[in-house]
Amino acid sequence: MKKQIAILGSTGSIGTQALQVIEEHPDLYEAYVLTANNKVDLLIEQARKFKPEAVVIANEDKYLELKEALSDLPIKVYAGTEALCQVVESKPIDIVLTAMVGYAGLKPTMSAIRAGKIIALANKETMVVAGEIINALANEYRTPILPVDSEHSAIFQCLEVNNPLEKVILTASGGPFRTFTMDQLRTVTKEQALKHPNWSMGAKITIDSASMMNKGFEVIEAKWLFGVRPDQIEVVVHPQSVIHSMVEFEDGAVKAQLGVPDMRLPIQYAFSYPQRVRSSFDRLDFMKCHDLTFEAPDTKRFRNLALAYEALHQGGNMPCIVNAANEVVVASFLKDQISFLGMSDVIEKAMQRVPFIKTPTYEDYVSTDAETRRIAAELVINGIK
Ligand code: NAD
Ligand code: MG
Repeated sequence: MKKQIAILGSTGSIGTQALQVIEEHPDLYEAYVLTANNKVDLLIEQARKFKPEAVVIANEDKYLELKEALSDLPIKVYAGTEALCQVVESKPIDIVLTAMVGYAGLKPTMSAIRAGKIIALANKETMVVAGEIINALANEYRTPILPVDSEHSAIFQCLEVNNPLEKVILTASGGPFRTFTMDQLRTVTKEQALKHPNWSMGAKITIDSASMMNKGFEVIEAKWLFGVRPDQIEVVVHPQSVIHSMVEFEDGAVKAQLGVPDMRLPIQYAFSYPQRVRSSFDRLDFMKCHDLTFEAPDTKRFRNLALAYEALHQGGNMPCIVNAANEVVVASFLKDQISFLGMSDVIEKAMQRVPFIKTPTYEDYVSTDAETRRIAAELVINGIK
């Protein structure tokens, strides 16, 4: 039986690479649902090629265009965010790949868990915002959450059945500004920030990588995925991105997962787990890996990493506040409305201003997200006071 896969965000960087994996294994996987936010042309092209059961466009204004373009095919066409939540519940779906970006992924991920679908989790913001609720739901509905993020997939691949982890070591490339001084960071542009040295990704995560918020989020994601305490999570800057992450056991043994930087591998592993399947992806050539280097992250120049650790320590709705403020500042940075370093200032202020809730409910997360966005947008427009 082919595994039926729903891809939330099929037009993005992870989504298109997931379709390459499906294309490489037509005997194993089938795209059952494809969804996009705005990119209707690409969604139409994908739907005509992969012939899914259903497609969803989140932006309802694009519904008619999508519907007409697919009218000669027996594909169900839906629009809107509610449809995203409903479509993942379809009975034949085995795996839901959450490849959409940001807080918007939270609700459909919760629907998919409630429907008992295996979650291939790319959308780390869901875990950052509401890891506790997601884990509780996954336990209740006995749904596995398989990591797609390369670092977490690496850790997942290193785990041993009877030996608890002592530490997880997340590697970080350090991004395009790894060697920049504070003075240089003051004037960096979005064009510079969008040039990641090792990975080609969507705009939001590329900015998060440049500011190291991505690594901060991955620290929080690791806590919820692997049940480790903050002091068991270490970040090591490894500019070559050959080691994707490591685990240390209580006897001091360290296991690492290595490979070329190619997201198709962790995507495919989440699809094939617990098996591995053959791939045609590039292989690691050790003769070309002359220097594998490691350094400590600098949380003075990259304050976002410190802010994310702070949010992790405080818990409650604090990671949700950091996530929402970050989504606002990244969107503003991409519109040249805020400086690179100004992003951390706004996030820090939002963390002080939005009311802290120790044990938030789902509704608390929804209101925290909305309130933080309002405050952060105000701080961007009026400047920090
Ligand atoms: P992207 O911007 O390239 O693609 C995002 C996708 O989500 C698009 O298909 C878009 O249509 C859809 N989308 C965006 N906003 C939406 C909304 N409000 N409602 C419905 N759909 C929406 O992003 P990406 O780089 O593919 O990243 C996707 C997720 O995977 C992010 O959470 C990111 O952190 C995570 N991730 C990405 C990579 C990578 O290599 N790109 C690696 C690790 C983790
Ligand atoms: Mg990652």
